[in-house]
Amino acid sequence: MILDQFNLSGKVAIVTGANTGLGQGMCVGLAEAGAKVVGVARRSCEETKALIDEFHGEFTEVIADLSSTDVIPVIVEETLKAYGRIDILVNNAGIIKREDAINYTMEDWDAVYKVNQKEVFFLCQAVAKEFIKQGEGGKIINVASMLSYQGGIRVPAYTASKSAILGLTRALANEWAAHNIQVNAIAPGYMATNNTTQLRGDEKRSEEILDRIPAGRWGTPADMQGTVVFLASHASDYVNGFTIAVDGGWLAR
Ligand code: NAP
Repeated sequence: MILDQFNLSGKVAIVTGANTGLGQGMCVGLAEAGAKVVGVARRSCEETKALIDEFHGEFTEVIADLSSTDVIPVIVEETLKAYGRIDILVNNAGIIKREDAINYTMEDWDAVYKVNQKEVFFLCQAVAKEFIKQGEGGKIINVASMLSYQGGIRVPAYTASKSAILGLTRALANEWAAHNIQVNAIAPGYMATNNTTQLRGDEKRSEEILDRIPAGRWGTPADMQGTVVFLASHASDYVNGFTIAVDGGWLAR
């Protein structure tokens, strides 16, 4: 039956940036669908764990700073130690640094690229190796952005990194489809999280953005849940290499 295809019971999901925002929302959604969730973050995920404990879901955390690729084998090992397998990877952690392009520093560029690009690729690679070893396929879901499609203002490294996520998602989908691995992405619109605190604090920019969103509101972490569960589940087995916008209609304008 169709709803059974969305059921994630017995699946193990790794979600990066699990302590807050969209990552927290996706952890809760995946756990509600039955997955055992490993949340990766550089600080405690106790709030996420408490939300999942409310419905007796499964959650464990791995503390890791995703600006270094040294943590990748640890994330894989800790997941296998906790739950014995990996079925789903959600690359959600990301940072944004705002500055006029003319003044943008190499330090900021490298900081954004380490988390938003290098870490994402090498974590995909490490988890895909496990998927291939397990021999049952797997699901990778990257988090893109409206700035995978548009230029943005004062965020050149972020725009470049998120545009690259869209391309990387296609590239990996092509190479790993033969192993029954689907690689897709979600492009959130303008969502009320720490990532947009500065933007929402700027009255003029905030009003301009809100006026342009057909849904008439900022998105929330809960808005990500349906799409991430779909992309993590058998319901999306023939969806591969695609980036789905969850944007209240922003791109349709
Ligand atoms: P957020 O609340 O700032 O969450 C970002 C997450 O990434 C946090 O858990 C953060 O941990 C984690 N993170 C950043 N650097 C890290 C590092 N070095 N090591 C470990 N974890 C690290 O913002 P969000 O909106 O939920 O962002 C989630 C994803 O959605 C990001 O990829 C973002 O670019 C993307 N996105 C957001 C929007 C939006 O409007 N909010 C729109 C499009 C795309 P800390 O809490 O410790 O910083």
